[in-house]
Amino acid sequence: MASTDTTRTEEAIEQATSNGDGGGTTFSMELSQDQIDIRDWVHGFSEQVVRPAAHEWDEKEEFPWPVVQEAAKIGLYGFESLGQFFSDESGLTLPIVNEELFWGDAGIGMAIFGTNLAVAAIFGSGTPEQIGEWIPQCYGSVDEPKVAAFCSSEPDAGSDVSAVRTTAKYDEATDEWVLNGQKAWATNGGIADIHVVIASVDRELGSRGHAAFVIPPGTKGCEQGAKVKKHGIRASHTADVHLDDCRIPGNCVLGGKEKLDERIARVKEGKKSRSQAAMATFETTRPTVGAQAVGIARAAYEYALDYAKEREQFGRKIVENQAIAFTLADMKLEIDAARLLVWRAAWMGRTGKEFANAEGSMSKLKAGEVAVNVTEKAIQIMGGNGYSREYPVERMHRDAKIYTIFEGTSEIQRLVISRAISGMRIE
Ligand SMILES: Cc1cc2nc3c(=O)[nH]c(=O)nc-3n(C[C@H](O)[C@H](O)[C@H](O)COP(=O)(O)OP(=O)(O)OC[C@H]3O[C@@H](n4cnc5c(N)ncnc54)[C@H](O)[C@@H]3O)c2cc1C
Repeated sequence: MASTDTTRTEEAIEQATSNGDGGGTTFSMELSQDQIDIRDWVHGFSEQVVRPAAHEWDEKEEFPWPVVQEAAKIGLYGFESLGQFFSDESGLTLPIVNEELFWGDAGIGMAIFGTNLAVAAIFGSGTPEQIGEWIPQCYGSVDEPKVAAFCSSEPDAGSDVSAVRTTAKYDEATDEWVLNGQKAWATNGGIADIHVVIASVDRELGSRGHAAFVIPPGTKGCEQGAKVKKHGIRASHTADVHLDDCRIPGNCVLGGKEKLDERIARVKEGKKSRSQAAMATFETTRPTVGAQAVGIARAAYEYALDYAKEREQFGRKIVENQAIAFTLADMKLEIDAARLLVWRAAWMGRTGKEFANAEGSMSKLKAGEVAVNVTEKAIQIMGGNGYSREYPVERMHRDAKIYTIFEGTSEIQRLVISRAISGMRIE
């Protein structure tokens, strides 16, 4: 090959693999063959393994380890698969995978993908060494899968992350951090091997004095508290986590102690600092969470559509009434609109675009509210059967509700969006 050709080829590869252009200059809404194959593969798992198990684990309200094991066996749960999904430079593979899995069932979906919140925190704030050391441990092995937990919320620090009271004090003599406090609502809290904990190293600095810490498996002083009995996603485990003089090695602060000391010093001098640890995690995960809500909504819509085409009243299919058909049309419209917002935010996040109008928050807000509305409409279309636990849409409705609450409530998303569009301090 002539040298100019080689240079052109190198330039093309560079362009295709760099962040910032979405993988090329031509615009297309078509999924790649890779994305279609992955989507269909996850869909198959959802249909054959997740859906048939959904009712049982929802009723039992227990963590579905056998299903997580199946997901690990086929390579859906694990470090490698996440790497594969994440490496797609358009950013769409992750939301596509999440939509398909949660189309199967949200409780089991969260049991399988709840770990990814802790992984996102390590990936977002960790050094390359920390990423290499801790992320594989979050998943365990195919034979013995493990889960991880991300612990930010506390009894008095939900929407207001700056109110975190858990402290991390550095013990110079032993080169250890000592953590004390109580975490609330932690997905996988206490059953996780790895806990990523947001703690304050300097209470006077509010959220700017926060850092994220990895609690290694089996660390003394890190215990599960009360398990939460929930309205929905009941196969997912949610619990308090108590930290009592919990000692961890000095290198377990994400990003490293040196960087943390520099950041705290900058803040104390009144200079700007990077976004706080918990918020940095949420910013990257919002579109993915939105995709989960889209999956639930789509499942309920499809179920209601099939039902409306079968069920007869007054001598005709109920879908032949405009009231029902128009409701289904609106459901479909809203689901597609939500998905487009999710994909846009995922693409922006992956290609390094600035979220100028809080597009990540928009996607999560829209998708969460669509999931609640669509699942409620699905119940209405199915009448008494929709309200019965013998049919899955009542479970989907209960599951959907969490999407207006966790990872930032709908009100908090509106706060973020309104601040972004106005440039004002909206309270
Ligand atoms: C099933 C489940 C799983 C969870 N998993 C995790 C997890 O893995 N890790 C984790 O750290 N946390 C987790 N959470 C916690 C979740 O993120 C919080 O519940 C959420 O952030 C809301 O906090 P809160 O419950 O304290 O509500 P509050 O903050 O007390 O809010 C109560 C109400 O007031 C509104 N409100 C609050 N402030 C404002 C404001 N400024 N303007 C307008 N309205 C406002 C809220 O929108 C809400 O409607 C989970 C929660 C649940 C239910």
